[in-house]
Amino acid sequence: MAGKLYLVPTPIGNLGDISRRAAETLETADFLAAEDTRVTVKLLNHLGIKKPMVTYHRHNCGTAGPAILRRIQDGETCALVTDAGTPAISDPGEDLVALCAADGVEVESIPGPCALTVALSVSGLPTGRFTFEGFLPLNKKNRRAQLEALAEEERTMIFYEAPHKLRATLDDLGAAFGPDRPLAVCRELTKLHEEVLRLTIGEAAAHYAAQEPRGEFVLVVGGRPPRTGAPDGDAALERALGLRAEGMPLKAAAAQAAEEFGVKKRLLYNQIAEKEENK
Ligand code: SAM
Repeated sequence: MAGKLYLVPTPIGNLGDISRRAAETLETADFLAAEDTRVTVKLLNHLGIKKPMVTYHRHNCGTAGPAILRRIQDGETCALVTDAGTPAISDPGEDLVALCAADGVEVESIPGPCALTVALSVSGLPTGRFTFEGFLPLNKKNRRAQLEALAEEERTMIFYEAPHKLRATLDDLGAAFGPDRPLAVCRELTKLHEEVLRLTIGEAAAHYAAQEPRGEFVLVVGGRPPRTGAPDGDAALERALGLRAEGMPLKAAAAQAAEEFGVKKRLLYNQIAEKEENK
């Protein structure tokens, strides 16, 4: 009978955050697959656990993944751990889960620390709807395309970033969303120097222009405020009436102003018609 893959979350800074169930799973698994065995051995020493380990990381997942899968198919249980946080969230654990899922091998995820949920919950920004963007692509064109695709995003957005890329990323976020967009910069979460700065993108860029970014960061960016349609006196309606005064047909004026201001064409059309009727 096939064994099982366990996804075991580990602390993102504070060792006290390892759960009893996570520790028991590390204790009872036949072997561990670790991103960096030197990091994991420190956790195992803290827990008083000794366990055979193999490595599974970005640079060997192509060969290590199938080898781990074979051992599980032969009946062993494997606990996957990364250096910090929940395996498969912005790390190659997602490939191993996909491999197991494709082969009908059971995967069980133990809930626990994850930088994105810690950051979102402490951000002070709306948490009801959000989108996790992970790390932005390094390639400039792909990076721009991803940010452009988020221009109209109304949900809170969460990004992971490395300290040496933080300044460039704040500049890119400012260009995409404007400097006044609210932002929570969540640094060194659960660690001694944990810091949450709630400011705007422009203020964050100025802060880190004067001070070198150090530590691990999650950026939580407020979504675009919802557009409110075009009540009487609204800029979209004014623009449409201006176009009408220049002689543009009603339908075209509604379409153009709606496009420019991102409001509903039909709503604007009705408002112009109503205004003109009541002249
Ligand atoms: N799987 C992990 C998780 O569950 O959060 C994330 C792995 S990803 C390779 C590493 C990134 O997570 C870091 O670059 C940083 O953006 C974020 N991160 C991890 N620990 C953090 C911490 N203590 N404080 C702030 N961000 C952290």
